[in-house]
Amino acid sequence: MPSEQANPFHSAQQQFDVAAELLNIPEGIRAILRVPQRELSVNFPVKMDNGSTKVFTGYRVQHNLSRGPAKGGIRYHPQVDLDEVRALAMWMTWKCALVNIPYGGAKGGVIVDPRQLTLGELERLTRRFATEISILLGPEKDIPAPDVNTNAQIMAWMMDTISMHRGYTVPAVITGKPVNIGGSLGRADATGRGVSLMVREMARRQNRNLESMAVVVQGFGNVGGVAAQLLHEMGCRVVGIADASGGYYRRNGLDIRAMQAYVASQPQRSLAGYKADGMEPLSNAELLELPCDVLIPAAMENQITDLNASRIRARLVVEGANGPTTPAADAVLADRGVTVVPDILANAGGVIVSYFEWVQGLQEFFWDEHDVNQKLERVMVGAFEQVYNLAQERRLPLRTAAYLVAVQRVADATLTRGVYP
Ligand code: GLU
Repeated sequence: MPSEQANPFHSAQQQFDVAAELLNIPEGIRAILRVPQRELSVNFPVKMDNGSTKVFTGYRVQHNLSRGPAKGGIRYHPQVDLDEVRALAMWMTWKCALVNIPYGGAKGGVIVDPRQLTLGELERLTRRFATEISILLGPEKDIPAPDVNTNAQIMAWMMDTISMHRGYTVPAVITGKPVNIGGSLGRADATGRGVSLMVREMARRQNRNLESMAVVVQGFGNVGGVAAQLLHEMGCRVVGIADASGGYYRRNGLDIRAMQAYVASQPQRSLAGYKADGMEPLSNAELLELPCDVLIPAAMENQITDLNASRIRARLVVEGANGPTTPAADAVLADRGVTVVPDILANAGGVIVSYFEWVQGLQEFFWDEHDVNQKLERVMVGAFEQVYNLAQERRLPLRTAAYLVAVQRVADATLTRGVYP
């Protein structure tokens, strides 16, 4: 089977197996961690603006709760399926463990293209989905957040829905909320900021000057857009950007601000039709193979596969998305000496500031943005150093080193708590 159709859950299990083997995790614990603890599938009706009723399907999967309540985003996408949500939930478990925040991993998804919905339909779908999965949710149980195609407004509707059921306001049941209802300053930029910090740290280790680095970013949303902007501000030349409408390449560097302003002015919120002097349009597939120093896949999973891994020209890949590189492609990149900063480290900035938001909400005491960014940087750089040093010491790819740290923490917690009853 070509990896382009690689099942993300099988990829996630394969990555886990490598770490479990190296760590000598006991068979019983391995069997627990290899599969999600809970899976909820829901089919639910939504009244459409034309008077009809449509039934949608969604999921909430909790992979592991050993280290705390479940944490992870909710995505709206036509290609959502249960195995994808399982993989994303498992990756959340490792991500939270790696950066040592007290959560287990979860993920949710609804099979829908939100661009086909009106604002009213989107709100009704969100409120009904939140109601259907509400049996799992709570500040001490399971705390959703944004993911692909969901945003702060959608989080506000979810928080409001849960609060209406309870009869009082429960800010800490959701993170990634708008700041005016208990969201954290710095949350919106956190994932992209974390990605940019990882590029900076790797450049330091490789004695590279950021000014000399050409960067290509796949994805121009909350992760890719922010990472591109921050890397540009740090002195990098961002030569390639892609969103769902295609790729845009300019050898001397793209004007990220102008591209962001263009997207904001378009009803479809995309780069379709964007033009600039000396800029060439290209496909998403071509974009990944551009000559550059750093490639940041910040869109969907299965982008770097065994079909294109040998043609990736970047020397450094920093995974803004979850699961953009298949295990088969990982092997090819490692052979070719391409360094990959893995998703569970590179994109952890979002969930780290989600944790800060949850803590601030529970304490009803809010921090300023400088504080948030400083604490984010400390956690991200600390985790990076631990992973980088372990990888050097044991001559392992960064992904394997990151898994060794994360899986050991979750296995220890599971072992310490014991098997009930
Ligand atoms: N969806 C984001 C992720 O994949 C953030 C999750 C969160 O903040 O809970 O890490």
